[in-house]
Amino acid sequence: MLFKIILVFLLAMVLIALVGRALFPGALPRVIRKRKGAPVCGTCGRYLIGTKTCDCGGKAK
Ligand SMILES: [Zn+2]
Repeated sequence: MLFKIILVFLLAMVLIALVGRALFPGALPRVIRKRKGAPVCGTCGRYLIGTKTCDCGGKAK
């Protein structure tokens, strides 16, 4: 009986996830892209916050 309840709960979670993905396509990838989109120095790979050029003379990718 308890196993059945857990199974139904899991199925409901999967359904919610599927519906959420269908309603908001690309919502999660956008968040990941935003994080990856932080400017990084093309020479040394340091994160550049507030500037476009790095201390080492490199430029943001
Ligand atoms: Zn650099």
